[in-house]
Amino acid sequence: MKNAEETLKALSLMHAPTGQENEVADFMEKKFKACGFSVTRDTLGNVIGRKGKGKKVMVASHMDEISMAVKSITDKGFLKFVKVGGIYDPMLIGARVLVHAKERRMGVVASKAPHGMDGEEMKKIQEAKDLYIDIGVSSKKEAEKLGIRPGTHITFSGEFSRLNEHWVSGKAFDNRVGCTVNCGIAEAYADKQPPVELCLVGSVREESGLFGAGVATFAIDPDLAIAVDVTHAFGAPGESEEDIPVGLGKGPALAILEGGGYGLITSNDVVEWLESVAKKANMTLQMEISERGASDASRIQYIRHGMLTASVGVPLRYMHSQVEVVDVRDIVQTVKFMQGVIEEFPKRK
Ligand SMILES: [Zn+2]
Repeated sequence: MKNAEETLKALSLMHAPTGQENEVADFMEKKFKACGFSVTRDTLGNVIGRKGKGKKVMVASHMDEISMAVKSITDKGFLKFVKVGGIYDPMLIGARVLVHAKERRMGVVASKAPHGMDGEEMKKIQEAKDLYIDIGVSSKKEAEKLGIRPGTHITFSGEFSRLNEHWVSGKAFDNRVGCTVNCGIAEAYADKQPPVELCLVGSVREESGLFGAGVATFAIDPDLAIAVDVTHAFGAPGESEEDIPVGLGKGPALAILEGGGYGLITSNDVVEWLESVAKKANMTLQMEISERGASDASRIQYIRHGMLTASVGVPLRYMHSQVEVVDVRDIVQTVKFMQGVIEEFPKRK
């Protein structure tokens, strides 16, 4: 994939709160169509690109990002909000956010200044329920005039920056990284037919319960389904290789099980086959056990009669923050690995 960083940057700066993924879905649809895929969108908003004939291989990457929604508006026009997806409360203070009213509007997640806090107050973690968003209006009426009401979506407004030659940082890398991989796969088959019926899926509503991918899987009924998402990489202070055996810059990771075994459990023959595919592509797969957390694969595996499923993760630091970090080479390597999977699947007994 030639333009992985450019594609990731474009996708990262887009806004797709869970349940309102259109902006990213439009991008994916355009990319799939430009590469000769026929595209459909379902009721929930999943975007599905298909190309080729034969066994069906589905590659799903979720398009939504952790977000918030307006709970109420105070008399003075401040927004109280609920979290949608796993957000660590202290990460909220000082965040710039985009409020998805009729016209998008910037806001800041604010709290009292430290000067106004006593010693005990300073030590406490401020919870999301006590925070508010300032959108620069003075009354509830003014906010309502902008079309803001309970349920209005809110996303983080972050920057995209480069940390070194290969590492970049930004918001919503979970899972615009996976979407970038899916774009890379589409590009790889732009000028040729895949040896399978390749179904590339931009799925919705992952962050709040892996819902969209389940619906898409039911509709497609694939012979093989792979979720491509991000996965935790060690290296931050307090996170050792013993706890998280996946590193940045070492290529894609295969999750053997997710959610401590309460989600996806990849069967041994699938693990061995995927390892042989990686070997053929001169790559090694990192192996991962996820104690908590799950990807779309944890839903996909249990649709219909049960699906041949795997979960491929691109290593990432600081998940669910506005400063997630990935190594762009891992994205390129994951595209290469997925091409190997697609090419080898028709030969698999
Ligand atoms: Zn996530």
